[in-house]
Amino acid sequence: MNKKKKGFSKANKTNAWTILVLIIVFIMALQAIFMVIVDSFLRYVVDAKLRSEGENIRYMAWLVDSAGDDGSAVALLGGSERDWVIRDANGETLHVEGRDTCGSDPQAVRLFTSQETVDICPDKEQGFIYPRKGSLSFRLPDDISDESDLKTLLGKIDQGGKVRFPFWIATPLKDGTTLYGKSVFVFDRFHLAYSLGMLVAFVALVLFQLILLVILFISGILRQQLLTKVFFMDDITNARNWMWLHINGTKVLCRRKYAKTRFALVGMAFVNYHNFCLCHSVAEGEELLREIDHRIRRALNKDEFCARHVGAEFAVLVQYVERDDLKNRITEILEDLESIDNTHKLSFHVGVALIPIATDNNGKIVRRREVDLDANYNYARAASATIKDSDASGIVFFDEALMEEQKWIDTVQENQKAALANEEFEVYYQPKYDPKTDELRGAEALIRWNSPKYGFKGPGAFIPIFESNGFIKEIDHYMVSHVARDQRAWLDQGYKCIPVSVNISRAHFIETDLAEQISKMVDEAGTPHELIELEVTESAFFDDKQAMIETIKKLKDNGFEVSMDDFGSGYSSLNSLKDMPLDVLKLDAEFFRGEAEAERKNIVVSEAIRLAKNLNMRTVAEGVEDKDQVDFLAGQGCDMIQGYFYAKPMPKTDFEKRMKKTEEP
Ligand code: C2E
Ligand code: MG
Ligand code: MG
Repeated sequence: MNKKKKGFSKANKTNAWTILVLIIVFIMALQAIFMVIVDSFLRYVVDAKLRSEGENIRYMAWLVDSAGDDGSAVALLGGSERDWVIRDANGETLHVEGRDTCGSDPQAVRLFTSQETVDICPDKEQGFIYPRKGSLSFRLPDDISDESDLKTLLGKIDQGGKVRFPFWIATPLKDGTTLYGKSVFVFDRFHLAYSLGMLVAFVALVLFQLILLVILFISGILRQQLLTKVFFMDDITNARNWMWLHINGTKVLCRRKYAKTRFALVGMAFVNYHNFCLCHSVAEGEELLREIDHRIRRALNKDEFCARHVGAEFAVLVQYVERDDLKNRITEILEDLESIDNTHKLSFHVGVALIPIATDNNGKIVRRREVDLDANYNYARAASATIKDSDASGIVFFDEALMEEQKWIDTVQENQKAALANEEFEVYYQPKYDPKTDELRGAEALIRWNSPKYGFKGPGAFIPIFESNGFIKEIDHYMVSHVARDQRAWLDQGYKCIPVSVNISRAHFIETDLAEQISKMVDEAGTPHELIELEVTESAFFDDKQAMIETIKKLKDNGFEVSMDDFGSGYSSLNSLKDMPLDVLKLDAEFFRGEAEAERKNIVVSEAIRLAKNLNMRTVAEGVEDKDQVDFLAGQGCDMIQGYFYAKPMPKTDFEKRMKKTEEP
């Protein structure tokens, strides 16, 4: 869950960052391209002007150099419209033609399209063009000092006028002096239109980029919203899902303002959902789930959440003050839910996990830093799983005992494989005696877990866990092969062996090749099949009856005896007895306990024994603890007794001692 959550926010962030970076790169690239185009164009225009003007001034210099001092060159050039000046190396003006507005200190400016340079001086009066660090720099004419001047200038150009931007080009003469010729950039309507066009293009570009940015931003947000909606939407209720509850619930729980508020995570399982779907339809079932979700949400306050978890289970995060109030509130919600459908009884199993208030080392209440809602939901589910009556709604709070139970289940599951591999499971044997002769006639193999870490455990502590997680099959194999090996060893040691029964779980019993599996294990040990008996509990007979009959027949064909364990403990399976070719009926210990009058109990027991006999079955009475019971059972013709009166389940070595006795004359 956390992985998924992290993955989502990472993808979200990555997405946002990628879009942002792409937008910035795109805008920068667009502007750079624009700048390069504008710059190249301007340089090209200026370059062309400089090149032609440079050539003209150099030509003038050639004329002056060629003519010598006779004044013919001056006379010739005097007729040109160009202002020009000759200065010596000290900057002394030697000759002026036209007006001398040439600024001092020429600087070389490199042409854009070649390596050539042209020496440039600014014009003193209308300095607009300056040489600067090897290239041209532009500045508005000095007389344009404010906006109105600029408007006047632009107005002038607009009316067909021209604005002149002069500069001077210097070229050396042979005699060491320098010729300065005036050049003019003429700015006219065309230039204005071009400049305005460029300005408009630039503004349009910026606008375009802005619009693009806004579109991308809005579409990003919409995409994000859509993604969030899909990600947090439950595919059946169409409302928010567990992921959403998890994220928002955790946020709320960790808020400072809720540090002192008690919260509970409630798991509500609609238990007869599958039945409902069978009676109606899946579509109606899903419609019902939507209604349940709607009604639960209707009952919630601010900062309380509800979402479907899996199947027909809903998780609800609520606030409460007192536990009793919380129970009343859940009861009210349940009553509302149960009233959704009058034709079908709706039942809910509700588990409640109370989320603790966080405290520091001094016991002071602090803000919750972290809350594991997955773990809390599991606690709630563990609590509701203890409700046995599936037909009625019920509410169970998860408490310390359940917490310990839950931890123990985890411990067993974590250790089961290693315990099996390390042979930590031990076979105990409980003898079965003939009540008439007190002779040892058989035994039942019962498992114990002798764990170096967790101590000595009876089967009640782990068999139900193995039954629910499937590990029971491996345990059954383990027991059969260990008992078969023990029997072989006893035979080899000259014991007079007796049949030993092994419990086979109901999950295992319906496997079609069970008889083959067991035969193989017993054969591997080299043990005669008649020394192994198999017990299956009465309740298993309610599973696949046909499969059970097949398995029992196959086991019997393979020479094994089969007994029905715990007969009378649950629902009566008298009907099953007529179909199942069983060898032994084991009367449950319940027959000999409980509140019922002794006389009535005795009637039931004697009738059960008679029934078994008529069906050609032997009987074993389990859980017999006193002499009167033994005498009564002996009188009724019960074949064997397995109970504390004779012996408790014992380790192999103790059992061997009892076996030896049977050999004594
Ligand atoms: P079960 O097969 O009905 O075994 C009889 C249980 O009754 C044993 O409990 C035994 O110790 C107990 N018992 C026998 N006589 C008396 C008596 O006089 N008084 C009292 N109070 N109890 C008596 P245990 O060993 O605790 O086993 C409990 C259950 O665990 C077994 O019931 C069986 O269902 C299951 N189990 C035990 N070992 C295995 C195994 O290897 N495989 C499987 N699948 N289940 C096993
Ligand atoms: Mg048994
Ligand atoms: Mg039993």
